[in-house]
Amino acid sequence: MTGDGRAGAVAVTRRAKNPVLAARKVLEETDHVLLVAPEEAVLEGWGVETVDPEYFVTESRRQQLSSVRAGVLAQSRHGTVGAVALDLAGRVAAATSTGGIVNQHRGRVGDTPVVGAGTYARDGVVAVSCTGEGEAFIEGAVAHDIYARMRYAGAALPDAVRATIDTELNGRGANGGLVAVGADGRVVVAHNSPAMFAACEEAGELVTLT
Ligand code: ASP
Repeated sequence: MTGDGRAGAVAVTRRAKNPVLAARKVLEETDHVLLVAPEEAVLEGWGVETVDPEYFVTESRRQQLSSVRAGVLAQSRHGTVGAVALDLAGRVAAATSTGGIVNQHRGRVGDTPVVGAGTYARDGVVAVSCTGEGEAFIEGAVAHDIYARMRYAGAALPDAVRATIDTELNGRGANGGLVAVGADGRVVVAHNSPAMFAACEEAGELVTLT
């Protein structure tokens, strides 16, 4: 999503090598916001690189799946990559890409492609990208909730993030986290999940945050 209020998203995509690039094409090439299961020919027509679905199967995810099915692993069913950015002109953007949660119901769509749930960005306020138990992020409209606290209640970014995590994640017994950048360049990384890796660039250097 770009901070001017436009968004593109894909869900249940098995062939786009980089789903965020496919999402960007939805924003740029269609009148729509969210496409489900985009066809290979459509992706190729947009110049988006496609791969065999096996490309996304990794040994660690395969093991997670067996553990969850065997009832051994209740947590750590997720794994998402997200990014937020602020450019020199003060414009913000957010992008999120996920494999969903392990052992999810066929046809499930999580929060990641749902604008306002797992991803949100508005210039002058904030860009947010989330990871975690998607159902809570959808029900709590988490990314938009942070934006709304800042936009309408004048909350500072760290306070907005804290309040949203408390109300919409802790309050629902769900776990996850997010990265956010405010219009002033302030970066906030927060999670109530056991771990979340994050890094940002400062003066051309990559700085690991968690
Ligand atoms: N939020 C994603 C989903 O629920 C999972 C994740 O963050 O790893 O589909």
